[in-house]
Amino acid sequence: MRRVSIFGATGSIGQNTIDLIRNAQAEYDVVVLTGGRNIAQLAKDARALNADVAVTAFSDLLEDLRAALAGSGVEASAGPEALVEAASRPADWVMSAIVGAAGLKPGLAALEQGATLALANKESLVCAGALVLETARTAGARLLPVDSEHSAVFQALIGEELDTVERIIITASGGAFRDWRLEDLKDATLAQASSHPNWDMGQRITIDSASMFNKALELIETKEFFGVSPEMIEVVVHPESLIHAMVGFNDGALMAHVGPPDMRHAIGFALNWPKRRTLPVERLDLATVGEMTFRAPEEARYPALRLGRAVMNRGGLSGAVFNGAKERALDAFLAGRIGFVDMAEIVEDVLTRFEAEPGLVDETMTLETVMQTDHLARVWADSAMEKRAG
Ligand code: NAD
Ligand code: MG
Repeated sequence: MRRVSIFGATGSIGQNTIDLIRNAQAEYDVVVLTGGRNIAQLAKDARALNADVAVTAFSDLLEDLRAALAGSGVEASAGPEALVEAASRPADWVMSAIVGAAGLKPGLAALEQGATLALANKESLVCAGALVLETARTAGARLLPVDSEHSAVFQALIGEELDTVERIIITASGGAFRDWRLEDLKDATLAQASSHPNWDMGQRITIDSASMFNKALELIETKEFFGVSPEMIEVVVHPESLIHAMVGFNDGALMAHVGPPDMRHAIGFALNWPKRRTLPVERLDLATVGEMTFRAPEEARYPALRLGRAVMNRGGLSGAVFNGAKERALDAFLAGRIGFVDMAEIVEDVLTRFEAEPGLVDETMTLETVMQTDHLARVWADSAMEKRAG
């Protein structure tokens, strides 16, 4: 039996992971499931999978979780420290699918105890790539990509030497507004930004897909995960979302990973790695697909991409600044306090301020400096938003 834990079990990635585990439940011993405010879902899954412990990220919900688990034998706990404690419980395979920088500490704790970490939480690598990789190396733990593009690159690289790679091309659907007139973007509503043309995902990543902040995070994630130089990484808009990434080699060959837009493929690949096993995903009929199209991302439509590229080139703690400011700007857009196009402007303001005040944070990357930088970026994003409002 493999011991598995799922962080962010109640979310979109978490539920897809549970779906795969239930397919072969006898093979898995579920240690930890975590969630947020959806206590009913968390308790239901913890009972069904007979987890050792269920954790809600929010301390005020501990009593609700206890009540929902009464008589089940599943332990209940709550709060950010409980998440880290749960992550340090021995497991063979841990899914990191909390959304945002909140996923960093539990992910590090899982690596420290030697678990294979299936990483959906791209924010960990954006904020603290070097720290995450170093933690894995020290503990002898394995990191596997779950983001569809990175899983695709990982698969295209099997059996290849990294020094024969010329370029990595990650695809982007273009998001909800890819065909909108540019002048209309400023009026985009929350509901419009929350609907993805191809993928069914959590709300935050869906909005990040419309703005391309998601692809900007993925550029940085690609550089960190595969250790390639920024100039080698390209983004192409591919509205059908069937090719997830391509790897170009020194002989001109381009290896593409093609599959339906279903995250159970990338999750299942990470769950079964190093083997491949049958997965309940649609098989593509290319004659029915008919055609696949590609185009260059427009600079004016997707300023987040330019910012992400600058951060990828800059490296260090700028990733934590970028992500923290983006999370805060997204919170404000979700709350109706700023418009869609304001998000990139706020993040750019914060990045400019970070560069204008060198030496403000110690650039040695430790968990402490990453958390301080993340906090500072959020405070600066708030003050940038206040300045604009008043
Ligand atoms: P989601 O919003 O559907 O789920 C997020 C999960 O994190 C939930 O279980 C929620 O309860 C929990 N959570 C939220 N805030 C938390 C906090 N402060 N502390 C602890 N837990 C918290 O998100 P998702 O779409 O499943 O995405 C999860 C991660 O996977 C993100 O990093 C996202 O970028 C990445 N990802 C998602 C997809 C996808 O298809 N959904 C694809 C690629 C990568
Ligand atoms: Mg992705």
